[in-house]
Amino acid sequence: MNQADSTVVSATSAPTMMQRPLLISSLIEHAAKNFGDTEIVSRTIDGAGHAGIHRYNYRDANRRAKQLANALKHLGVVRGDRIATLAWNGYRHFELYYGVSGMGAIIHTVNPRLFPEQIAYIINHAEDKFLFVDVTFVPLIEALVATSVAASAPSLKSLKGIVVMTDRAHMPSAKIDNLICYEDLLSAEADDFVWPQFDENTPSGLCYTSGTTGNPKGVLYTHRSTIFYTYAAMSPECFCLSSQSVVLPIVPMFHVNAWGLPYIAAAAGSKLVFPGAALDGASLYQLFEQEEVTASAGVPTVWLGLINYLKTHGLKFSTFKETVIGGSAVPPAMLRTLELDFGITVLHGWGMTEMSPLGTLNRLRGKHLKLSVEEQLVIKARQGAPVFGMELEIWDGDGKPLPHDGHAFGDLVVRSPWVLERYFKDARSALINGWLPTGDVANIDADGIMQITDRSKDVIKSGGEWISSIELENIAMAHPAVFEAAVIGRAHPKWDERPLLIVVKKPNTELGAEELLKFFDGKIAKWMLPNAVEFVPQLPHTATGKLLKTKLRDDFRAFKFAD
Ligand code: ADP
Repeated sequence: MNQADSTVVSATSAPTMMQRPLLISSLIEHAAKNFGDTEIVSRTIDGAGHAGIHRYNYRDANRRAKQLANALKHLGVVRGDRIATLAWNGYRHFELYYGVSGMGAIIHTVNPRLFPEQIAYIINHAEDKFLFVDVTFVPLIEALVATSVAASAPSLKSLKGIVVMTDRAHMPSAKIDNLICYEDLLSAEADDFVWPQFDENTPSGLCYTSGTTGNPKGVLYTHRSTIFYTYAAMSPECFCLSSQSVVLPIVPMFHVNAWGLPYIAAAAGSKLVFPGAALDGASLYQLFEQEEVTASAGVPTVWLGLINYLKTHGLKFSTFKETVIGGSAVPPAMLRTLELDFGITVLHGWGMTEMSPLGTLNRLRGKHLKLSVEEQLVIKARQGAPVFGMELEIWDGDGKPLPHDGHAFGDLVVRSPWVLERYFKDARSALINGWLPTGDVANIDADGIMQITDRSKDVIKSGGEWISSIELENIAMAHPAVFEAAVIGRAHPKWDERPLLIVVKKPNTELGAEELLKFFDGKIAKWMLPNAVEFVPQLPHTATGKLLKTKLRDDFRAFKFAD
């Protein structure tokens, strides 16, 4: 062996670089040490604080998260225990994100917009040990406890206690025994907790998918997956957050960890603004202005509400610059309004609960900056390119990769260190040949920019051709009298399935089916045109604000096309 050979280090020899585990507690420690006085502002749920606003900073948050970790320890919580929350975006929820995961337990964020039976199912399935609730959700829990007692089938049987996230003065009177007061719990504890070091593959958080089909399924994130995700999502091609950013997550902390913003903001040292339960246009706008918010994130339906409010009152934003919108397709009409009327850069994002959630984000490339605004808007309407660490492919029906030419479309599959391998408590892997099937149908262009054409179960299969329901919805949404639109496939004797367009009109507008269908002229091939239009007062949404097409298909089960 010569000298050079003997210095070659094999992968099995002692590590040459430090083996520091990637842990969530390091995010809050970093923020507290380096951005200690950066503010975290919350609109309170219980109305406490001057004008209903609570202010503190990362140093305080870290201190209180440590008090919480001590309290959990004294309540008998050990590594791997699940601790549920039913809570809005606020500072106490933020403390739970860090206190629970930081001490080695698992924070299970429950979506309060699910049906009560689903909430009970989830809490039982997760075997949650304690439940932390905002005051607004105490009646919900009361009803759940009462139903289970009446049915003498104790649901929520794993729970050892329920903690109300408020102080003694705001504790509600409830028909549940032994409710614990959050502030009492914390005030009894010291803040000298040292965040333990453990294996980075330890589970840190649990989030169930909304269960638009079947029972909700649990996605169990780990410390490692969360830190990888945080690095990727804070980067310039993605959220691009820094200590100069003021970020207001509209997306709830019970919906895939507010898309990771509580972690990303701490890593980046950004000021955080939590809107609490007040998600109406007026309350959000006031907070955006008062706190000089620069960045945000939310699903299209909340932006519909906010845009409506701004337009009705002739308002503009002063500091707000860009927002990520995803969860369902951003209608081009909304993109145009936010970009051109309000000067907000829209970053269209796509992802899933199973993906922590971000897969792609659409930020214009350097080479796009010379294009016309209209050309840029066409690119921005696509769902975007994968962030580093995420890989995408499209497969044909036999699992063979399709070309990335912007035309070929097929089943979208993904892989990444922050993508699910198997659902919680499921022995089977969810992967096919190492990739997770997303249930979405997409094309990818030569720049890697992906466009979702549909969910595989929503595609309309007409005489062997596929029609994208999203494309038809987007066109309908651009009509000035349309507030919201959904397209579903309905059985057709000749074509197998044909599109049915279901529309909610804007208040005080006139619109007939014929006029609306004329609006599609020249925008799509004639054979894709919806065969019928139905007007309804409102459309059903899932617990995460998406169109609930299973319900629409049920509602229109008996529908028959005239021809
Ligand atoms: P749920 O199944 O509970 O609705 P998710 O919130 O995880 O769960 O939803 C993921 C799905 O949402 C994706 O598979 C996709 O169909 C849809 N989706 C998310 N973002 C977009 C987007 N920007 N455009 C179109 N569809 C989207």
